Amino acid sequence: MSRVAQRGGASSANRAGDGEDICPVCKTSRYLNPNMRFLVNPECYHKMCESCVDRIFSHGPAQCPVAGCRRTLRKNKFRKQTFEDIQVEREVDIRRRVADVFNRREEDFDTLLDYNNYLNDVEDLTFNLIYKIDLEESEKKLESYRLDNEQSISQNKALASQESQSAEMRKMMEQEQAKLRREAARREEEQLRREREEGRQEVINKLAAGDGDASKIARESHSIVLKKSSARRAALERQQQLTNESNGATKTNFSIKGLKQKVEPEPEKPYDPFGGLSDARDSYVLQDDYDVDWLRSFKQDPRHNVGGYDFKEFYDRALCDAFSGLGVFIEDEMAGKELSSIAPGSVTAAAQAVTEGNTNEAKIIAEDVF
Ligand SMILES: [Zn+2]
Ligand SMILES: [Zn+2]
Repeated sequence: MSRVAQRGGASSANRAGDGEDICPVCKTSRYLNPNMRFLVNPECYHKMCESCVDRIFSHGPAQCPVAGCRRTLRKNKFRKQTFEDIQVEREVDIRRRVADVFNRREEDFDTLLDYNNYLNDVEDLTFNLIYKIDLEESEKKLESYRLDNEQSISQNKALASQESQSAEMRKMMEQEQAKLRREAARREEEQLRREREEGRQEVINKLAAGDGDASKIARESHSIVLKKSSARRAALERQQQLTNESNGATKTNFSIKGLKQKVEPEPEKPYDPFGGLSDARDSYVLQDDYDVDWLRSFKQDPRHNVGGYDFKEFYDRALCDAFSGLGVFIEDEMAGKELSSIAPGSVTAAAQAVTEGNTNEAKIIAEDVF
């Protein structure tokens, strides 16, 4: 990016910042009042400072003071702007309003396609509301749906709040368990330290009393410590097992009901460019070679073979053309029949006749496939 462009971008950003810091109603700027707060009303989303809102709307509903806007606003609807872009603010409000009414769940539908169609319709309606396309009609649709489905809407709302509550509870229980685990670990450590201290003291006392061999006393104390620690480890494992089991129990308590059986998708088949159509010829079988007089010279001519030219390709194409009826013209065919009085009905005979007759090339191809 060039420096000029950068500077331009920065200055325009500054201008926007200045504009945001001046109340469009009383023209107070943040420079004069650093504690100034801006509020918007979801009726028209015109921004004004808090003191303007207090001054104009304290005595009840009044018209929006912004020039050209005649909407009646109430003070209790004013709130702080969450998003910097007022368009985003408005869209979020509309989406929230629509989602409050259209709160059907996937379980309500027989098939996923129905659910997706419903989501698509809702999105269309939301889009219309956001971009003010057929605004009145869309509002009417929303309202009529709300009136028609009041019961299911409130049911689904209750379900949603229940779900969020149970999620909250689960989180709390997990936190509680983590806390208990931490405390248990701390207690364990404390006990270990105390036992070690006691053991050491005992050894010192025994040594001080002087009864018995010093090395024997040391060995004994060591074995006692080992025994204790192994017993503790076993107890710990037991406890771990118990908590695991109880965890499993709580997990089954919180299982989600009504989940549909997941069906493994079929493995993707290799790509078939013909879409299942076979290119096998069912009206003829291709031979490796055809012995035709006029082709013989071409077959022996190296000019027709050196380039990788395959006569089989030619046979196949010619046969395919012939059996598909390409290059066959009824009028010519009939004329050919009349011409061949030698053996009518036999194709080869007709072809011979045509070749002998030395008529045009097209006819040769039509009769004798090569
Ligand atoms: Zn103001
Ligand atoms: Zn307004």
